[in-house]
Amino acid sequence: MSITKLCDYCGKPAIYTDSSLVYGKSYGMIYYCPDCHAWVGVHRGTDKPLGRLADAELRDWKKKAHDAFDPLWRTGRMKRNTAYAWLAQKLGIEVKQAHIGMFDAAQCMQVIQICQQERSYH
Ligand SMILES: [Zn+2]
Repeated sequence: MSITKLCDYCGKPAIYTDSSLVYGKSYGMIYYCPDCHAWVGVHRGTDKPLGRLADAELRDWKKKAHDAFDPLWRTGRMKRNTAYAWLAQKLGIEVKQAHIGMFDAAQCMQVIQICQQERSYH
């Protein structure tokens, strides 16, 4: 029995389906809204969505946010946990909410800005 996940754009219930629908290859299950062509993956082994449904524009923002943020810890400048704690503090949110997968476009833009500032100081 899957849970009901409402589309974050139109508010209609999203379809719980295999990700091969959107990727052409199965990477697990997703919640998918056919009206908005928006989707989100689930936590491995569960039907719990990873965050909000993302349309093409939001997916693009999330990718850019990751591109800006990930080097902070990938390069070893910060530990991964430290980097997320730092990001949460900068955004004024709790650490447990600091997941780019859960961010909307506005928060992704903030992440990009914060990381660009951080880089220009060092
Ligand atoms: Zn929708």
